[in-house]
Amino acid sequence: MRQVDHFMVDGTATPSARKHQIWNPSTGEVQAEVVLGDAALLDRAVATAKKVQPEWAATNPQKRARIMFRFKELIEENMQELAELLSSEHGKVIDDAKGDVQRGLEVIEYACGIPQVLKGEYTLGAGPGIDVYSSRQPLGIGAGITPFNFPAMIPMWMFGMAIAAGNAFILKPSERDPSVPVRLAELFVEAGAPEGLLQVVHGDKEMVDAILDHDDISAVSFVGSSDIAHYVYKRGVDNGKRVQAMGGAKNHGIVMPDADLDQVVNDLAGAAFGSAGERCMALPVVVPVGEDTADRLREKLLPAIDALRVGVSNDPDAHYGPVVTPEHKARVEQWITTAEQEGGEIVVDGRNFSLQGHEKGFFIGPTLIDNVTPDMESYKEEIFGPVLQIVRAKDFEEAVRLPSDHQYGNGVAIFTRNGHAAREFANRVNVGMVGINVPIPVPVAYHSFGGWKRSAFGDTNQYGTEGLKFWTKVKTVTQRWPDGGGDGSNAFVIPTMG
Ligand code: NAD
Repeated sequence: MRQVDHFMVDGTATPSARKHQIWNPSTGEVQAEVVLGDAALLDRAVATAKKVQPEWAATNPQKRARIMFRFKELIEENMQELAELLSSEHGKVIDDAKGDVQRGLEVIEYACGIPQVLKGEYTLGAGPGIDVYSSRQPLGIGAGITPFNFPAMIPMWMFGMAIAAGNAFILKPSERDPSVPVRLAELFVEAGAPEGLLQVVHGDKEMVDAILDHDDISAVSFVGSSDIAHYVYKRGVDNGKRVQAMGGAKNHGIVMPDADLDQVVNDLAGAAFGSAGERCMALPVVVPVGEDTADRLREKLLPAIDALRVGVSNDPDAHYGPVVTPEHKARVEQWITTAEQEGGEIVVDGRNFSLQGHEKGFFIGPTLIDNVTPDMESYKEEIFGPVLQIVRAKDFEEAVRLPSDHQYGNGVAIFTRNGHAAREFANRVNVGMVGINVPIPVPVAYHSFGGWKRSAFGDTNQYGTEGLKFWTKVKTVTQRWPDGGGDGSNAFVIPTMG
Protein backbone atom coordinates (compact mmCIF):
# COMPACT_ATOMS: atom_id res chain seq x y z
CA MET A 1 0.00 0.00 0.00
CA ARG A 2 1.24 3.51 -0.86
CA GLN A 3 2.50 5.33 2.20
CA VAL A 4 2.54 9.11 2.57
CA ASP A 5 5.52 10.16 4.66
CA HIS A 6 6.53 13.42 6.30
CA PHE A 7 8.51 15.86 4.17
CA MET A 8 11.50 16.72 6.31
CA VAL A 9 15.25 16.86 6.10
CA ASP A 10 15.68 14.77 9.23
CA GLY A 11 12.81 12.44 9.78
CA THR A 12 11.40 9.65 7.75
CA ALA A 13 8.70 7.82 9.63
CA THR A 14 9.54 5.27 12.26
CA PRO A 15 8.11 1.82 11.45
CA SER A 16 6.08 1.92 14.66
CA ALA A 17 4.33 5.19 13.77
CA ARG A 18 0.56 5.33 13.98
CA LYS A 19 -1.13 5.53 10.58
CA HIS A 20 -4.32 6.96 9.13
CA GLN A 21 -6.21 5.57 6.14
CA ILE A 22 -6.61 7.65 3.00
CA TRP A 23 -9.76 6.81 1.09
CA ASN A 24 -10.56 7.06 -2.57
CA PRO A 25 -14.03 8.53 -1.98
CA SER A 26 -15.19 7.62 -5.50
CA THR A 27 -14.54 3.90 -5.09
CA GLY A 28 -14.98 3.68 -1.34
CA GLU A 29 -11.65 1.90 -1.04
CA VAL A 30 -8.57 2.71 1.02
CA GLN A 31 -5.88 3.78 -1.44
CA ALA A 32 -2.98 4.74 0.84
CA GLU A 33 -2.03 5.48 4.41
CA VAL A 34 -0.33 8.42 6.02
CA VAL A 35 2.06 8.14 8.95
CA LEU A 36 1.20 10.24 11.98
CA GLY A 37 3.98 12.09 13.74
CA ASP A 38 4.49 13.00 17.38
CA ALA A 39 6.22 15.65 19.49
CA ALA A 40 9.65 14.07 19.02
CA LEU A 41 9.31 14.23 15.25
CA LEU A 42 8.18 17.85 15.46
CA ASP A 43 11.28 18.63 17.55
CA ARG A 44 13.42 17.43 14.66
CA ALA A 45 11.51 19.55 12.16
CA VAL A 46 11.86 22.61 14.37
CA ALA A 47 15.60 22.00 14.82
CA THR A 48 16.01 22.01 11.02
CA ALA A 49 13.84 25.11 10.64
CA LYS A 50 15.94 26.94 13.22
CA LYS A 51 19.08 26.16 11.23
CA VAL A 52 17.83 27.39 7.86
CA GLN A 53 15.64 30.35 8.82
CA PRO A 54 18.29 32.99 9.67
CA GLU A 55 20.01 32.64 6.31
CA TRP A 56 16.67 32.76 4.51
CA ALA A 57 15.66 35.91 6.40
CA ALA A 58 18.99 37.46 5.39
CA THR A 59 18.44 36.58 1.72
CA ASN A 60 17.37 39.72 -0.08
CA PRO A 61 13.66 39.86 -0.94
CA GLN A 62 14.32 39.89 -4.67
CA LYS A 63 16.12 36.55 -4.47
CA ARG A 64 13.30 35.14 -2.36
CA ALA A 65 10.85 36.38 -4.99
CA ARG A 66 12.75 34.58 -7.75
CA ILE A 67 12.19 31.27 -6.00
CA MET A 68 8.50 32.09 -5.69
CA PHE A 69 8.38 32.83 -9.42
CA ARG A 70 9.97 29.50 -10.23
CA PHE A 71 7.61 27.73 -7.82
CA LYS A 72 4.64 29.34 -9.56
CA GLU A 73 5.89 28.08 -12.91
CA LEU A 74 6.41 24.57 -11.57
CA ILE A 75 2.89 24.46 -10.18
CA GLU A 76 1.54 25.53 -13.55
CA GLU A 77 3.61 22.86 -15.31
CA ASN A 78 2.35 20.21 -12.89
CA MET A 79 -1.26 21.41 -12.70
CA GLN A 80 -2.83 18.31 -14.20
CA GLU A 81 -0.90 15.89 -11.98
CA LEU A 82 -1.65 17.94 -8.86
CA ALA A 83 -5.34 18.14 -9.74
CA GLU A 84 -5.62 14.39 -10.33
CA LEU A 85 -3.88 13.55 -7.07
CA LEU A 86 -6.02 16.04 -5.19
CA SER A 87 -9.22 14.83 -6.76
CA SER A 88 -8.47 11.17 -6.01
CA GLU A 89 -8.08 11.80 -2.27
CA HIS A 90 -10.64 14.55 -1.78
CA GLY A 91 -13.36 13.51 -4.23
CA LYS A 92 -13.85 16.91 -5.89
CA VAL A 93 -13.98 16.84 -9.70
CA ILE A 94 -10.84 17.68 -11.68
CA ASP A 95 -11.98 21.19 -12.64
CA ASP A 96 -12.66 22.00 -8.99
CA ALA A 97 -9.30 20.51 -8.05
CA LYS A 98 -7.62 22.80 -10.59
CA GLY A 99 -9.49 25.72 -9.06
CA ASP A 100 -8.18 24.68 -5.64
CA VAL A 101 -4.59 24.77 -6.93
CA GLN A 102 -5.20 27.96 -8.92
CA ARG A 103 -6.54 29.99 -5.99
CA GLY A 104 -3.46 29.02 -3.95
CA LEU A 105 -1.22 29.83 -6.88
CA GLU A 106 -2.63 33.36 -6.91
CA VAL A 107 -1.28 33.88 -3.39
CA ILE A 108 2.12 32.66 -4.60
CA GLU A 109 1.86 35.25 -7.40
CA TYR A 110 1.18 37.90 -4.78
CA ALA A 111 4.17 36.64 -2.78
CA CYS A 112 6.33 37.16 -5.90
CA GLY A 113 5.86 40.88 -5.19
CA ILE A 114 7.41 40.60 -1.74
CA PRO A 115 10.16 43.21 -2.40
CA GLN A 116 7.43 45.76 -3.03
CA VAL A 117 5.04 44.79 -0.24
CA LEU A 118 7.77 44.49 2.40
CA LYS A 119 9.00 48.04 1.91
CA GLY A 120 8.81 49.86 5.20
CA GLU A 121 7.87 53.35 6.33
CA TYR A 122 10.21 56.29 6.76
CA THR A 123 9.76 59.71 8.30
CA LEU A 124 12.44 62.25 7.59
CA GLY A 125 12.76 64.86 10.33
CA ALA A 126 10.35 63.48 12.90
CA GLY A 127 12.19 65.76 15.36
CA PRO A 128 15.27 67.98 15.20
CA GLY A 129 17.76 65.82 13.31
CA ILE A 130 15.64 62.76 14.01
CA ASP A 131 14.45 60.26 11.43
CA VAL A 132 12.19 57.28 12.09
CA TYR A 133 11.82 54.13 10.10
CA SER A 134 9.75 50.99 10.55
CA SER A 135 10.40 47.65 8.95
CA ARG A 136 8.63 44.32 9.06
CA GLN A 137 10.76 41.45 10.24
CA PRO A 138 9.93 37.74 10.13
CA LEU A 139 8.76 35.98 13.28
CA GLY A 140 11.07 32.98 12.89
CA ILE A 141 9.20 29.69 12.59
CA GLY A 142 5.55 29.64 11.60
CA ALA A 143 3.19 26.67 11.47
CA GLY A 144 0.00 25.98 9.52
CA ILE A 145 -2.72 23.46 10.36
CA THR A 146 -5.09 22.95 7.45
CA PRO A 147 -8.46 21.29 6.67
CA PHE A 148 -9.25 18.59 4.14
CA ASN A 149 -11.42 20.66 1.85
CA PHE A 150 -8.76 22.80 0.12
CA PRO A 151 -5.55 20.77 0.39
CA ALA A 152 -3.67 22.99 -2.09
CA MET A 153 -5.15 26.48 -1.70
CA ILE A 154 -5.12 26.85 2.07
CA PRO A 155 -1.54 25.61 2.63
CA MET A 156 -0.43 28.10 -0.07
CA TRP A 157 -2.39 30.92 1.58
CA MET A 158 -0.23 30.34 4.62
CA PHE A 159 3.24 29.25 3.57
CA GLY A 160 3.33 31.51 0.50
CA MET A 161 3.09 34.61 2.67
CA ALA A 162 5.03 33.30 5.67
CA ILE A 163 8.04 32.12 3.69
CA ALA A 164 8.20 35.11 1.35
CA ALA A 165 8.29 37.29 4.48
CA GLY A 166 11.39 35.44 5.70
CA ASN A 167 10.04 32.73 7.99
CA ALA A 168 10.61 28.97 7.97
CA PHE A 169 7.37 27.03 7.85
CA ILE A 170 6.04 23.75 9.20
CA LEU A 171 2.78 22.56 7.64
CA LYS A 172 0.47 20.01 9.22
CA PRO A 173 -2.11 19.25 6.53
CA SER A 174 -5.30 17.27 6.96
CA GLU A 175 -4.60 13.58 7.44
CA ARG A 176 -7.49 12.83 5.06
CA ASP A 177 -5.80 14.15 1.87
CA PRO A 178 -2.13 14.82 2.66
CA SER A 179 -0.47 13.96 -0.67
CA VAL A 180 -0.82 17.30 -2.49
CA PRO A 181 0.75 19.32 0.35
CA VAL A 182 3.76 16.97 0.23
CA ARG A 183 3.97 17.33 -3.55
CA LEU A 184 3.90 21.13 -3.21
CA ALA A 185 6.78 20.99 -0.74
CA GLU A 186 8.78 18.85 -3.19
CA LEU A 187 8.15 21.36 -5.97
CA PHE A 188 9.22 24.19 -3.71
CA VAL A 189 12.63 22.58 -3.25
CA GLU A 190 12.79 21.95 -7.00
CA ALA A 191 12.16 25.69 -7.42
CA GLY A 192 15.35 26.41 -5.48
CA ALA A 193 14.12 26.81 -1.92
CA PRO A 194 16.59 25.67 0.74
CA GLU A 195 15.75 22.22 2.07
CA GLY A 196 14.07 22.43 5.44
CA LEU A 197 12.51 25.85 4.83
CA LEU A 198 9.11 24.26 4.15
CA GLN A 199 8.52 20.97 5.97
CA VAL A 200 5.37 18.88 6.14
CA VAL A 201 4.59 16.86 9.24
CA HIS A 202 1.51 14.65 9.38
CA GLY A 203 -0.64 13.97 12.35
CA ASP A 204 -3.82 14.39 14.28
CA LYS A 205 -4.59 16.07 17.62
CA GLU A 206 -1.31 14.81 19.10
CA MET A 207 0.73 16.68 16.47
CA VAL A 208 -1.51 19.76 16.66
CA ASP A 209 -0.97 19.93 20.43
CA ALA A 210 2.79 19.49 19.96
CA ILE A 211 2.79 22.46 17.56
CA LEU A 212 0.72 24.59 19.93
CA ASP A 213 3.04 23.79 22.84
CA HIS A 214 6.37 24.15 21.04
CA ASP A 215 8.40 27.05 22.44
CA ASP A 216 10.23 27.73 19.17
CA ILE A 217 7.13 28.14 16.98
CA SER A 218 6.12 31.79 17.05
CA ALA A 219 2.88 31.83 15.09
CA VAL A 220 0.18 29.35 14.14
CA SER A 221 -2.37 29.71 11.38
CA PHE A 222 -5.30 27.29 11.53
CA VAL A 223 -8.25 26.65 9.23
CA GLY A 224 -10.88 24.03 10.09
CA SER A 225 -14.08 23.61 12.08
CA SER A 226 -15.02 26.20 14.71
CA ASP A 227 -14.76 24.20 17.93
CA ILE A 228 -11.26 23.07 17.02
CA ALA A 229 -10.37 26.57 15.76
CA HIS A 230 -11.39 27.99 19.13
CA TYR A 231 -9.39 25.34 20.99
CA VAL A 232 -6.32 26.00 18.82
CA TYR A 233 -6.67 29.74 19.33
CA LYS A 234 -6.92 29.50 23.12
CA ARG A 235 -4.12 26.99 23.59
CA GLY A 236 -1.79 28.79 21.19
CA VAL A 237 -2.42 32.20 22.73
CA ASP A 238 -1.98 30.78 26.25
CA ASN A 239 1.43 29.63 25.12
CA GLY A 240 2.29 33.14 23.97
CA LYS A 241 1.93 32.56 20.23
CA ARG A 242 0.37 34.69 17.58
CA VAL A 243 -2.66 32.72 16.34
CA GLN A 244 -5.23 33.16 13.60
CA ALA A 245 -7.86 30.41 13.51
CA MET A 246 -10.53 30.30 10.83
CA GLY A 247 -13.61 28.18 11.54
CA GLY A 248 -16.84 26.89 10.04
CA ALA A 249 -19.51 28.69 8.07
CA LYS A 250 -23.16 28.82 7.10
CA ASN A 251 -23.36 31.32 4.27
CA HIS A 252 -26.69 32.80 3.18
CA GLY A 253 -27.69 33.87 -0.32
CA ILE A 254 -30.34 36.61 -0.17
CA VAL A 255 -32.63 36.71 -3.21
CA MET A 256 -34.50 39.99 -3.63
CA PRO A 257 -37.79 40.04 -5.57
CA ASP A 258 -36.12 41.90 -8.47
CA ALA A 259 -33.23 39.43 -8.88
CA ASP A 260 -32.58 37.66 -12.16
CA LEU A 261 -33.80 34.24 -11.01
CA ASP A 262 -32.28 32.29 -13.90
CA GLN A 263 -28.89 33.68 -12.98
CA VAL A 264 -29.51 33.00 -9.28
CA VAL A 265 -30.45 29.38 -9.95
CA ASN A 266 -27.38 28.91 -12.09
CA ASP A 267 -25.19 30.44 -9.37
CA LEU A 268 -26.82 28.35 -6.64
CA ALA A 269 -26.31 25.13 -8.55
CA GLY A 270 -22.56 25.74 -8.39
CA ALA A 271 -22.36 27.44 -5.00
CA ALA A 272 -24.59 25.07 -3.04
CA PHE A 273 -23.74 21.74 -4.67
CA GLY A 274 -20.32 22.24 -6.28
CA SER A 275 -17.53 20.32 -4.58
CA ALA A 276 -20.37 18.40 -2.84
CA GLY A 277 -20.98 21.47 -0.67
CA GLU A 278 -17.63 20.98 1.08
CA ARG A 279 -16.56 24.61 0.80
CA CYS A 280 -16.44 27.11 3.62
CA MET A 281 -17.70 29.71 1.11
CA ALA A 282 -20.52 27.50 -0.25
CA LEU A 283 -24.06 28.87 -0.17
CA PRO A 284 -26.03 26.24 1.79
CA VAL A 285 -28.85 28.63 2.74
CA VAL A 286 -30.94 30.62 0.31
CA VAL A 287 -33.19 33.38 1.63
CA PRO A 288 -35.83 34.49 -0.87
CA VAL A 289 -37.51 37.73 0.17
CA GLY A 290 -41.30 37.43 -0.01
CA GLU A 291 -43.46 34.32 -0.57
CA ASP A 292 -43.80 35.00 -4.28
CA THR A 293 -40.01 35.12 -4.76
CA ALA A 294 -39.69 31.91 -2.75
CA ASP A 295 -42.27 30.05 -4.83
CA ARG A 296 -40.81 31.22 -8.15
CA LEU A 297 -37.28 30.33 -7.02
CA ARG A 298 -38.29 26.86 -5.83
CA GLU A 299 -40.00 26.15 -9.13
CA LYS A 300 -36.87 27.09 -11.08
CA LEU A 301 -34.53 25.23 -8.73
CA LEU A 302 -36.19 21.85 -9.26
CA PRO A 303 -35.19 21.27 -12.91
CA ALA A 304 -31.73 22.72 -12.23
CA ILE A 305 -31.21 20.21 -9.41
CA ASP A 306 -32.58 17.45 -11.57
CA ALA A 307 -29.97 18.29 -14.21
CA LEU A 308 -27.05 17.99 -11.78
CA ARG A 309 -24.82 15.06 -12.55
CA VAL A 310 -23.13 13.35 -9.63
CA GLY A 311 -20.15 11.25 -10.66
CA VAL A 312 -16.75 9.88 -9.82
CA SER A 313 -14.20 12.61 -9.33
CA ASN A 314 -12.45 12.06 -12.66
CA ASP A 315 -15.68 12.03 -14.69
CA PRO A 316 -15.32 15.15 -16.87
CA ASP A 317 -19.10 15.50 -17.13
CA ALA A 318 -19.81 15.32 -13.41
CA HIS A 319 -20.86 18.51 -11.62
CA TYR A 320 -19.70 17.15 -8.31
CA GLY A 321 -18.25 14.01 -6.80
CA PRO A 322 -18.44 12.10 -3.52
CA VAL A 323 -17.91 13.54 -0.04
CA VAL A 324 -14.60 12.86 1.65
CA THR A 325 -15.15 9.90 4.00
CA PRO A 326 -17.88 7.40 4.98
CA GLU A 327 -18.17 9.14 8.36
CA HIS A 328 -18.82 12.46 6.67
CA LYS A 329 -21.44 10.92 4.38
CA ALA A 330 -23.24 9.48 7.42
CA ARG A 331 -23.04 12.85 9.18
CA VAL A 332 -24.51 14.80 6.27
CA GLU A 333 -27.34 12.27 5.85
CA GLN A 334 -28.05 12.49 9.56
CA TRP A 335 -28.44 16.27 9.22
CA ILE A 336 -31.01 15.76 6.45
CA THR A 337 -32.93 13.42 8.76
CA THR A 338 -32.69 15.95 11.60
CA ALA A 339 -34.02 18.69 9.31
CA GLU A 340 -36.96 16.44 8.41
CA GLN A 341 -37.70 15.68 12.07
CA GLU A 342 -37.55 19.38 12.90
CA GLY A 343 -40.28 20.12 10.36
CA GLY A 344 -38.24 21.02 7.27
CA GLU A 345 -39.84 19.96 3.99
CA ILE A 346 -37.53 17.60 2.09
CA VAL A 347 -38.29 18.65 -1.47
CA VAL A 348 -35.43 16.71 -3.08
CA ASP A 349 -33.88 13.91 -1.02
CA GLY A 350 -30.24 12.94 -1.65
CA ARG A 351 -30.09 10.21 0.99
CA ASN A 352 -29.68 6.62 -0.19
CA PHE A 353 -28.19 7.86 -3.43
CA SER A 354 -26.23 5.19 -5.26
CA LEU A 355 -24.03 5.64 -8.30
CA GLN A 356 -24.25 2.71 -10.66
CA GLY A 357 -20.95 0.85 -10.81
CA HIS A 358 -19.66 2.77 -7.77
CA GLU A 359 -22.06 1.64 -5.08
CA LYS A 360 -19.37 1.79 -2.38
CA GLY A 361 -18.44 5.45 -3.13
CA PHE A 362 -19.40 8.17 -0.67
CA PHE A 363 -22.01 9.88 -2.84
CA ILE A 364 -24.91 12.01 -1.69
CA GLY A 365 -27.54 13.27 -4.10
CA PRO A 366 -28.39 16.97 -4.22
CA THR A 367 -30.87 17.80 -1.48
CA LEU A 368 -33.33 20.69 -1.23
CA ILE A 369 -35.10 21.49 2.03
CA ASP A 370 -37.81 24.16 2.16
CA ASN A 371 -39.54 25.92 5.05
CA VAL A 372 -36.47 25.85 7.24
CA THR A 373 -36.70 28.20 10.23
CA PRO A 374 -33.96 29.84 12.34
CA ASP A 375 -34.80 27.80 15.46
CA MET A 376 -33.90 24.50 13.75
CA GLU A 377 -30.60 22.83 14.68
CA SER A 378 -30.02 21.92 11.03
CA TYR A 379 -30.08 25.66 10.25
CA LYS A 380 -27.85 26.69 13.15
CA GLU A 381 -25.10 24.17 12.42
CA GLU A 382 -22.87 23.63 9.42
CA ILE A 383 -23.85 20.59 7.31
CA PHE A 384 -20.98 20.71 4.78
CA GLY A 385 -22.67 18.60 2.15
CA PRO A 386 -24.72 19.01 -1.07
CA VAL A 387 -27.72 20.30 0.84
CA LEU A 388 -29.54 23.59 0.14
CA GLN A 389 -31.94 24.96 2.75
CA ILE A 390 -34.59 27.56 1.92
CA VAL A 391 -35.39 30.03 4.70
CA ARG A 392 -38.23 32.32 3.64
CA ALA A 393 -37.88 35.95 4.76
CA LYS A 394 -40.87 38.28 4.76
CA ASP A 395 -38.91 41.44 3.99
CA PHE A 396 -35.48 43.01 3.50
CA GLU A 397 -35.02 43.68 7.21
CA GLU A 398 -35.45 40.00 8.04
CA ALA A 399 -33.04 39.11 5.23
CA VAL A 400 -30.37 41.33 6.80
CA ARG A 401 -31.09 39.95 10.26
CA LEU A 402 -30.82 36.23 9.43
CA PRO A 403 -27.13 36.09 8.45
CA SER A 404 -26.30 38.84 10.95
CA ASP A 405 -27.74 36.86 13.88
CA HIS A 406 -26.25 33.53 12.83
CA GLN A 407 -23.35 32.18 14.90
CA TYR A 408 -21.16 32.03 11.79
CA GLY A 409 -20.17 35.05 9.73
CA ASN A 410 -17.90 33.87 6.97
CA GLY A 411 -19.56 34.86 3.68
CA VAL A 412 -22.92 36.08 2.41
CA ALA A 413 -24.33 37.06 -0.98
CA ILE A 414 -27.19 39.23 -2.15
CA PHE A 415 -28.83 38.92 -5.56
CA THR A 416 -30.63 42.04 -6.74
CA ARG A 417 -30.80 44.65 -9.48
CA ASN A 418 -31.24 47.41 -6.91
CA GLY A 419 -27.96 49.18 -6.12
CA HIS A 420 -29.35 50.90 -3.05
CA ALA A 421 -30.57 47.62 -1.51
CA ALA A 422 -27.23 45.97 -2.27
CA ARG A 423 -25.29 48.84 -0.72
CA GLU A 424 -27.46 48.91 2.40
CA PHE A 425 -27.11 45.17 2.78
CA ALA A 426 -23.34 45.10 2.31
CA ASN A 427 -22.95 47.92 4.79
CA ARG A 428 -25.14 46.54 7.53
CA VAL A 429 -24.75 42.77 7.42
CA ASN A 430 -22.68 41.32 10.28
CA VAL A 431 -20.55 39.04 8.08
CA GLY A 432 -16.91 39.30 6.92
CA MET A 433 -17.10 38.68 3.15
CA VAL A 434 -19.99 39.89 1.00
CA GLY A 435 -20.90 39.12 -2.60
CA ILE A 436 -23.21 41.34 -4.63
CA ASN A 437 -24.52 39.16 -7.44
CA VAL A 438 -21.39 37.07 -6.79
CA PRO A 439 -22.26 33.76 -5.14
CA ILE A 440 -18.82 32.80 -3.75
CA PRO A 441 -17.07 36.05 -2.83
CA VAL A 442 -13.63 34.66 -2.01
CA PRO A 443 -11.45 37.79 -2.15
CA VAL A 444 -8.60 37.91 -4.68
CA ALA A 445 -5.05 37.36 -3.42
CA TYR A 446 -4.24 41.06 -3.06
CA HIS A 447 -7.19 41.63 -0.72
CA SER A 448 -7.57 39.19 2.18
CA PHE A 449 -9.77 36.38 3.44
CA GLY A 450 -11.49 36.21 6.80
CA GLY A 451 -14.90 35.73 8.38
CA TRP A 452 -16.45 37.17 11.51
CA LYS A 453 -18.03 35.76 14.68
CA ARG A 454 -17.44 32.00 15.12
CA SER A 455 -15.93 31.79 11.63
CA ALA A 456 -12.62 33.26 12.78
CA PHE A 457 -10.70 33.69 16.02
CA GLY A 458 -7.85 36.17 16.12
CA ASP A 459 -7.75 39.46 14.33
CA THR A 460 -5.83 39.21 11.09
CA ASN A 461 -7.04 37.73 7.84
CA GLN A 462 -5.32 35.30 5.53
CA TYR A 463 -3.06 36.54 2.69
CA GLY A 464 -2.73 40.02 1.14
CA THR A 465 -1.32 42.76 3.35
CA GLU A 466 -3.23 41.25 6.30
CA GLY A 467 -1.35 37.98 5.82
CA LEU A 468 1.91 39.85 5.64
CA LYS A 469 1.10 41.56 8.95
CA PHE A 470 0.35 38.23 10.56
CA TRP A 471 3.68 36.68 9.56
CA THR A 472 5.87 39.66 10.48
CA LYS A 473 6.55 41.93 13.45
CA VAL A 474 7.26 45.63 13.22
CA LYS A 475 10.54 47.11 14.32
CA THR A 476 10.70 50.89 14.56
CA VAL A 477 14.01 52.71 14.73
CA THR A 478 14.28 56.32 15.89
CA GLN A 479 17.67 57.70 14.96
CA ARG A 480 19.67 60.86 15.43
CA TRP A 481 23.14 61.45 14.07
CA PRO A 482 24.60 64.51 15.81
CA ASP A 483 27.50 66.18 14.10
CA GLY A 484 29.77 65.73 17.12
CA GLY A 485 30.51 69.44 17.61
CA GLY A 486 32.40 70.67 20.73
CA ASP A 487 36.20 70.58 20.45
CA GLY A 488 36.05 68.54 17.28
CA SER A 489 37.40 65.35 18.84
CA ASN A 490 34.08 63.54 18.26
CA ALA A 491 33.31 65.24 15.03
CA PHE A 492 31.89 63.12 12.26
CA VAL A 493 33.89 63.48 9.12
CA ILE A 494 31.79 63.72 6.02
CA PRO A 495 33.72 61.82 3.37
CA THR A 496 34.48 63.74 0.24
CA MET A 497 35.08 62.45 -3.24
CA GLY A 498 38.42 64.23 -3.61
P1 NAD B 1 -11.27 19.86 11.11
O1 NAD B 1 -11.52 20.91 12.13
O2 NAD B 1 -11.78 18.48 11.37
O3 NAD B 1 -9.69 19.67 10.87
C1 NAD B 1 -8.84 20.77 10.63
C2 NAD B 1 -7.45 20.43 11.14
O4 NAD B 1 -7.50 20.21 12.56
C3 NAD B 1 -6.85 19.17 10.52
O5 NAD B 1 -5.51 19.40 10.20
C4 NAD B 1 -6.99 18.13 11.62
O6 NAD B 1 -5.97 17.17 11.61
C5 NAD B 1 -6.93 18.95 12.89
N1 NAD B 1 -7.70 18.37 13.98
C6 NAD B 1 -8.74 17.49 13.88
N2 NAD B 1 -9.21 17.19 15.10
C7 NAD B 1 -8.48 17.89 15.99
C8 NAD B 1 -8.52 18.01 17.42
N3 NAD B 1 -9.42 17.36 18.14
N4 NAD B 1 -7.63 18.82 17.99
C9 NAD B 1 -6.72 19.50 17.27
N5 NAD B 1 -6.65 19.43 15.92
C10 NAD B 1 -7.53 18.63 15.28
O7 NAD B 1 -11.81 20.43 9.73
P2 NAD B 1 -12.03 19.65 8.36
O8 NAD B 1 -13.17 18.71 8.52
O9 NAD B 1 -10.73 19.13 7.86
O10 NAD B 1 -12.43 20.86 7.39
C11 NAD B 1 -13.74 21.32 7.25
C12 NAD B 1 -14.02 22.48 8.17
O11 NAD B 1 -13.11 23.56 7.89
C13 NAD B 1 -15.40 23.07 7.95
O12 NAD B 1 -15.93 23.42 9.20
C14 NAD B 1 -15.14 24.30 7.10
O13 NAD B 1 -16.13 25.30 7.19
C15 NAD B 1 -13.87 24.76 7.68
N6 NAD B 1 -13.16 25.64 6.76
C16 NAD B 1 -13.09 26.95 7.05
C17 NAD B 1 -12.45 27.82 6.19
C18 NAD B 1 -12.34 29.27 6.52
O14 NAD B 1 -11.48 29.92 5.95
N7 NAD B 1 -13.15 29.82 7.42
C19 NAD B 1 -11.88 27.34 5.02
C20 NAD B 1 -11.96 25.97 4.73
C21 NAD B 1 -12.60 25.13 5.63
